[in-house]
Amino acid sequence: YVKHAGKNGYELFVKSMNVVAKRRLELESHLRHAIAENELSLNYQPQIEMNSGKIVGVEALLRWNSKQLGFVSPVEFIPIAEETGLIAPIGEWVMREACRQTRQWQLEELPQIRVAVNLSVRQFAKQNLEKLVYQVLLDTGLPVHCLELEITENMLMDDVDGSVETLHRLKALGVQLAIDDFGTGYSSLSYLKRFPIDRLKVDRSFITHVTTDPGDASVTQAIIAVAHNLGLSVTAEGVEDESQLAFLQQHDCEEVQGYLFSRPLSADDLAGLLRASNGYMPLKKSEH
Ligand code: C2E
Ligand code: MG
Ligand code: MG
Ligand code: MG
Repeated sequence: YVKHAGKNGYELFVKSMNVVAKRRLELESHLRHAIAENELSLNYQPQIEMNSGKIVGVEALLRWNSKQLGFVSPVEFIPIAEETGLIAPIGEWVMREACRQTRQWQLEELPQIRVAVNLSVRQFAKQNLEKLVYQVLLDTGLPVHCLELEITENMLMDDVDGSVETLHRLKALGVQLAIDDFGTGYSSLSYLKRFPIDRLKVDRSFITHVTTDPGDASVTQAIIAVAHNLGLSVTAEGVEDESQLAFLQQHDCEEVQGYLFSRPLSADDLAGLLRASNGYMPLKKSEH
């Protein structure tokens, strides 16, 4: 690009590099104080059981409302947190807050649900992750089966043997384990059977065009088939319309999550939803 763009193009390139670097530094310096400044919060997105319409879980999704920068997407700040090591305190905060809040809902006698927490690369690679998880469960009183950990495919493939061990140590605690964004990474199916996991989450990128793109439909069907053959459950993420839901219902996908049911909600709004719906979201039955 630089070579063909001439002098002006080069200046533009340097300028945009500076903009990127500046933004990055800005994010990093403010992110350092995000916890202390109370700028972090969690949103919760319902996960619905296909057969019953029951809200069986929520995924905890991190939000950062910076006093200086406004809302920043996790897609932008999580990688920076990873690179700078800030992910350690932030990840621990997320785990604690998700478990505390979910236990709090139980104490308020709302319908019991599990909570899914996203793990970052560094968190997963860290020694003694299971000790942190155990400590948080102990401190918050959340029953162990109510916690699910989401790990992406690529995190597992970096070091397959190490990952198998880490997963076994986590599984020994009794937590649920899910592979997030499944289908987008490069995992070999032969490794899948070595991982002591409970669930695959089909990536949103396949669900978006599942009813219009035969390729995406095939991939989704194949993921569901592999999961079922290995005794795993399947959650589809990013379900936005009824036709996608009908497809997933026809192909025996166990759980669904997406804007069709609910956007990620604040803790208060999620509690309101659980209370108002008594924990169920009616699903239309497919004709087939
Ligand atoms: P993810 O774990 O795959 O989370 C799903 C993302 O899809 C969320 O974006 C969610 O808001 C969005 N989503 C859910 N349903 C729909 C839908 O029907 N349509 C569309 N268009 N989007 C939908 P969000 O909250 O922006 O999070 C993005 C990513 O940031 C997450 O992807 C996850 O990788 C990461 N992330 C979020 N919170 C955490 C966290 O606490 N720790 C770590 N390590 N990563 C996190
Ligand atoms: Mg996730
Ligand atoms: Mg996902
Ligand atoms: Mg995704």
